[in-house]
Amino acid sequence: MTRGKSQARPPWPVRMCVICRERFPKSELVRHVAAAEGEAGLAPDPRAVLPGRGHYLCANPACAEKFLKYSGRPRRRRGGSR
Ligand SMILES: [Zn+2]
Repeated sequence: MTRGKSQARPPWPVRMCVICRERFPKSELVRHVAAAEGEAGLAPDPRAVLPGRGHYLCANPACAEKFLKYSGRPRRRRGGSR
């Protein structure tokens, strides 16, 4: 065990929840990928077999709720006034 540094990295893969930006073991997050080019929405990819950029969501219900809006509004789209 290495002590002294609180920023020590855990020996398992860690990913960041796209909503709360907390870091979790990858196994605790659900990976989502964009459904298709130009299409709103992210598809869950629990087996991590789909290509594309992964969006990781933690198990927090509040994050799941926000994630619905997140996935429905891809940042790439223009003209997203409200
Ligand atoms: Zn989260």
